Amino acid sequence: MIIVLFGKPGAGKGTQAPLLANDLDVPTLATGDVLRSAVRGGTTLGLEAKGYMDRGELVPDKVILGIVAEELGQPQYAKGVILDGVVRTVPQAEGLERMLKVLGRKVDAVLAFDIDNDEIVRRLSGRTVCENCQTPYTGREVGSVCDKCGGALMRRKDDEPEAIRTRLRVYDEQTAPVLDWYRRNGGWVVVVDAVGPVEEITKRTLEALQR
Ligand code: AMP
Repeated sequence: MIIVLFGKPGAGKGTQAPLLANDLDVPTLATGDVLRSAVRGGTTLGLEAKGYMDRGELVPDKVILGIVAEELGQPQYAKGVILDGVVRTVPQAEGLERMLKVLGRKVDAVLAFDIDNDEIVRRLSGRTVCENCQTPYTGREVGSVCDKCGGALMRRKDDEPEAIRTRLRVYDEQTAPVLDWYRRNGGWVVVVDAVGPVEEITKRTLEALQR
């Protein structure tokens, strides 16, 4: 089962991905997490990606498709994957489709989390994430402790107001057209209302997948 989680930054993809993964028993692949870990490790990938990420811009498609190709070749994704934060441009959708075709696979569903910009700004400006395992939290102070791994919570640089504005603009210009691309190319697009308690949204998503 290959599922693409789609939505604006702050729509809840990173919160829902592990919950859905647990229920559907497939691993997640979050390109943002791969990139942040590369930035922390000071690798060539990290150095290349950092500026784009801090400004809230997209990392070039070639870099992203390289990450996805390398990851999807690993045995843990043999039975499926929940893609969190990729696909974000039409060339990424095309590249992923080419890649999966070679493997005799395809995207089974695109889960589009629907939310308006006011709610996004409210969420992202109150968000902290664990510096260790990346779990996102709403309404928790910087420096408090992650429930999952005990790491310290921090604010992401791209959750600053200027970067949030850029990310929303980038979403409208480059990411929103991806949904039409999937619709035109026979993809199964499932729209989920992404406002409400976390468990409720997981439930809605799983129900929508069963239809
Ligand atoms: P995320 O954690 O998904 O919000 O991603 C954080 C940042 O990583 C984004 O704002 C981009 O700079 C970069 N990034 C993550 N995934 C992608 C992608 N599929 N395409 C381009 N840039 C990405």
